[in-house]
Amino acid sequence: MTNKRPDTEEEPILECDVCMKEIPRSVGESLEGPDYVHHFCGAECYEQWKKKNSRPPKP
Ligand SMILES: [Zn+2]
Repeated sequence: MTNKRPDTEEEPILECDVCMKEIPRSVGESLEGPDYVHHFCGAECYEQWKKKNSRPPKP
């Protein structure tokens, strides 16, 4: 899935984990997981993702 422009002196473009929008790396929020880094176009999508992925706390 690489159809990027050849002149890549610019920052890499990431994809929002929630809405799949393309986001420049410096703009997006990111969250490093144990084996994957999640990227979000903004705090809104981050919150959405957090809600979706939150687990009930164990006693
Ligand atoms: Zn998003």
